[in-house]
Amino acid sequence: MGGRTTLLYSERFLDYNLGPSHPLRPIRVKLTHDLIQSKGLLSEDEIRITVPRVASEEEILLFHEKEYVRLVQKYSERGSGLLDAGDTPAFKGCFEATSLVVGASLEACDNIMQGKFTHAFNPSGGLHHAHPERASGFCIFNDPAISVNYLKTKYKIRRLVYIDIDAHHGDGVMYGYYGDPSLLDIDFHENGKYIFPGTGFPDEIGENEAKGLKLNIPLLPGTGDEAYLMAFHKLVPDIVRRFQPEMILVQCGADGHADDRLAHLRLTTNVYREVVSEMHSLAHELCEGRLLLFGGGGYTLANVPRVWTTAFAALSGKKLDNQIPEHWSRGFRELTGEDPPNVLQDKPTSDDSKTIGEVDSVLDELTSYLTN
Ligand SMILES: [Zn+2]
Ligand SMILES: [Zn+2]
Repeated sequence: MGGRTTLLYSERFLDYNLGPSHPLRPIRVKLTHDLIQSKGLLSEDEIRITVPRVASEEEILLFHEKEYVRLVQKYSERGSGLLDAGDTPAFKGCFEATSLVVGASLEACDNIMQGKFTHAFNPSGGLHHAHPERASGFCIFNDPAISVNYLKTKYKIRRLVYIDIDAHHGDGVMYGYYGDPSLLDIDFHENGKYIFPGTGFPDEIGENEAKGLKLNIPLLPGTGDEAYLMAFHKLVPDIVRRFQPEMILVQCGADGHADDRLAHLRLTTNVYREVVSEMHSLAHELCEGRLLLFGGGGYTLANVPRVWTTAFAALSGKKLDNQIPEHWSRGFRELTGEDPPNVLQDKPTSDDSKTIGEVDSVLDELTSYLTN
């Protein structure tokens, strides 16, 4: 599978900083860039960095309400205030910082649609919880949701697939397009009975013309690679082939990895490699390779760079050995004060009968809603 791949990157991504004690640590994006670089991926001929632009207000309004955008601007100047019930504090310059995250995703869309690159990854993006009128779950502006409308209006795309593998339900994107038949939205996440935002159940399948085009796969805490990949392979390739997308978007939150500080799944780098590789082949089979990867959650610093480097290698069709370069480990220690990981990719985790049985019954339940 050919194609050129770009990594959206600027050190200004570190400006998206919700505070020193906040669980979302912007340094994870730099650590990811540095690991991708130290694994030699950026010296490949067909892989390039793209420096992102800032999104315009008009572009942000493709998804968000004017009144909310004004509020973000006001709090951003002031440098204080809460943008939701408590998880998403405003900070000085937050409007500019989150506009850059959005701009990076839109630049990725442009690069792909104009044929400069086939695949793109915006590790600062994937802020899938923000709603049109409010921030939520660390997300100020929803860059995947804005990207969807951007692709529809600027490039007249009529059939998009959005897959969200973050440990949390991508509620902002799903409910933002709940009745929109141009978006097939498939969302794997830890069951909302156990975790924020408490939504995303199998009976939520979309409305009106979009009925059957919103799919939720809630997973028990403790779900590992085996059950996850079984569900993914049973469900995703067929339904994506039937939908015939013109482009594929993947929100690749790394918080489903085992030992995440906020979520309770037990996935390893194997899931991320397999999911991205499968979406990569489907993109080449169905839509000339057009594939855009967003970051997302991920709260354990020793995991996020490994997960996203693995995903980026799969996006660009490259194989990686398991070595963590020594100079990257040193940088990791200096930047985080924590111990660096020992290996790049983990051994797969297998599941017990309880999690496998639960995944099977969720798939059955989903099928029953889809066929009714
Ligand atoms: Zn490719
Ligand atoms: Zn998450």
